[in-house]
Amino acid sequence: MTRRAADVLREAVLRLRPVLGEGGARDARLLLAYALGIDAGRLTLVLQDDVAPEVLQSYLGYVDQRLSRQPASQIIGRRLFWGREFLVNCDVLDPRPETETLIELALRNAPPERILDLGLGSGCILLTLLAELPDAVGFGVDVSVAALRVAQKNAVRLGVADRTDVHQSDWFSAASGQFDLIVSNPPYITAAEMGELDPEVSHWEPKIALTPGPDGLESYRIIANSLDRFLAKDGRAFFEIGYRQGAAVCKIFQERGFDDVQVFPDLNGHDRVVQIRR
Ligand code: GLN
Repeated sequence: MTRRAADVLREAVLRLRPVLGEGGARDARLLLAYALGIDAGRLTLVLQDDVAPEVLQSYLGYVDQRLSRQPASQIIGRRLFWGREFLVNCDVLDPRPETETLIELALRNAPPERILDLGLGSGCILLTLLAELPDAVGFGVDVSVAALRVAQKNAVRLGVADRTDVHQSDWFSAASGQFDLIVSNPPYITAAEMGELDPEVSHWEPKIALTPGPDGLESYRIIANSLDRFLAKDGRAFFEIGYRQGAAVCKIFQERGFDDVQVFPDLNGHDRVVQIRR
């Protein structure tokens, strides 16, 4: 028996909403559009049509995946960041809107020539900057080879692969030379906060990208220890931070001799990015 898209959607909403709240209704639409191979914005136009059996089967599979709390972005395999589409899977952090604050700040200044991103993940930070700054070249590192594969594919998709150099590296270990812009969204969630995360994050996103252990500050200590060597004169560094970490992270860099350290809020007004100027 063929079924109308509107009925299929209604049933999926009834299954997802009790588990996911209003987000469940949104994801039901998003996943149906994906199963149909159309833009989510066009879904309303086909709701009176019948859904082919194979499409219905895929859709019910996606709804089950979502019910197991897999993020919609991982089911679809994509996520929008700064207006561009990034491939994502469970090997990388899902690019988040708060991280766009870092992009905005980094683009405010004179365009850099050499950019270093510590902890590439999907590559959303470095590759967005390279796409916005056609004369810049980028060096991106991640300790996870699986993440580097995703970042490399994204570099190709965004047309910046010829200006992107990607390496496996434990923080600065594979980097050489100096950079006028250094960026990172390092793991910063504390051990205590890890227990409070939604299952979408704690079960499906890579733990290594989320937390550096106990107080959430270890990544900044490691970066601060070597920043002096890799940040060019007059260069700037931007690091994403947890919203309660502003003072502690500033102190870590100040103790290493950086006296131009500033904290900026995200669009929700929470402390989110630390800027360091040399
Ligand atoms: N740079 C990537 C991002 O911002 C990955 C960060 C990470 O893995 N901690 O999404």
